[in-house]
Formats: sequence, C-alpha cells, structure tokens
Amino acid sequence: MLYMSKINVIKEEEMKSIEKGVRNCRKCSLWETRTNPVVGEGSLDPKVMFIGEAPGYNEDKEGRPFVGKAGKVLDELLESIGLKREEIYITNVLKCRPPNNRDPKSEEIKACTPYLDRQISIVKPSVICTLGNFATSYILEKFGIKPENIGKLHGKVYRVKNLMIDASIIPLYHPAAAVYNPEMKAILMEDFRKIKSVLNKNSGNV
Ligand code: URA
Ligand code: SF4
Repeated sequence: MLYMSKINVIKEEEMKSIEKGVRNCRKCSLWETRTNPVVGEGSLDPKVMFIGEAPGYNEDKEGRPFVGKAGKVLDELLESIGLKREEIYITNVLKCRPPNNRDPKSEEIKACTPYLDRQISIVKPSVICTLGNFATSYILEKFGIKPENIGKLHGKVYRVKNLMIDASIIPLYHPAAAVYNPEMKAILMEDFRKIKSVLNKNSGNV
C-alpha cells in the first residue's frame, strides 16, 4: 500500500512537470490562439487511457479534456460499460486547440507528441483507446503497426509489448462523430463492449 502510494506521488510529480512544460510551450504556433492548454486528467493508474485529437471550444475555455458535446457522448459510453471518469486517464494528441477546430497539422503533431509519449510512459496503461483517425494513426505507427482508416480499424484489439509498455490498443471512432448520429453511437456502444471484454480478460473474470 505504502509502495503504491509512493509510486503515485512520483507519477503526480512527473505529470506536474509535463503540465508546466505545456503551459510554457511555444513549440508550435497554436500557443498564440489558445485560451488554455489541455494537458489531460484522470487516474494515474487507470483501467483505460483514452487519447483524443485536440481540445475543442469548450475544452480550450475550461482547460479540461472532453467537457463539451463529444465529452457528453463519451460519458454515456463510459457509463454503458460501468466506467467512471475517475477510473480512466484522458488526454489528446495536441494540447492546444487548433483555430476553428481544424485538423491538426503534421508539424503540430510532431512538436506536441513528446508530451503524449511522456504521459504514456508515466501512466503505463494496459489498455489504450485511440479516438478518431489522428490519435489512431499516431499510436499505431509508434508501435510499428500500419495505420488504416478508422472505418477499417475500429473495435479491433492490437497487443503491443516493448520496454515501455505492455498494452492492448483499441482504435475507436471519435465520439464527436456520434453527437448527431445515432448509428455511429450504436457502433461506438458495440466497440465499448469490446473494451469491457478486454478489461474482464485482463482481470481474469472472462
Ligand atoms: N475532442 C477531442 O478530441 N478532444 C477533446 O478534448 C474534446 C473534443
Ligand atoms: Fe506546444 Fe503542443 Fe501547444 Fe503546440 S499544441 S504550443 S506543441 S503544447
């Protein structure tokens, strides 16, 4: 118990240092137009780490991930498999909002993802869910898996193992795509059941 809490104190310190780095970051031009950066939040010993694309309007205002419409969909999906926000860690590929929510540029992804890499190595999740094409491509490429369109990959489980991590990666559609689209939400619900079954397997209750 003492051992675990010591590890968590170290993790919290490391996360704080990332937060400081992000707050002062000017490695790409997005710092000029952001209101607040969104570093990420949640358990540092989570059941699942979720990786989205970039902060949107509400996230930029509040400095917290997934607090707008897409966040509401995500909350419903989490609830459908009995997961609470406090049990997951959630962050994004980019920590600052692209103007008008445009797509991330490749130079922005390159500049920003060292923060995400550090977050992954601190959190050491056993399940990583990537939300949408940008997060999926970045993470799969990182682990040497050829990315394809999310329409092909969603709901599949990729097992990766290296010195840094031993995890299942599950690509998912971005919850923003389900905000006004019940069919997309049904697909996401189905894919969330896959997360649940991976979690059950990991904990030995098949
Ligand atoms: N969309 C994302 O990808 N991330 C957020 O934090 C909010 C919306
Ligand atoms: Fe720095 Fe990332 Fe923000 Fe660009 S998006 S300024 S790299 S924190």
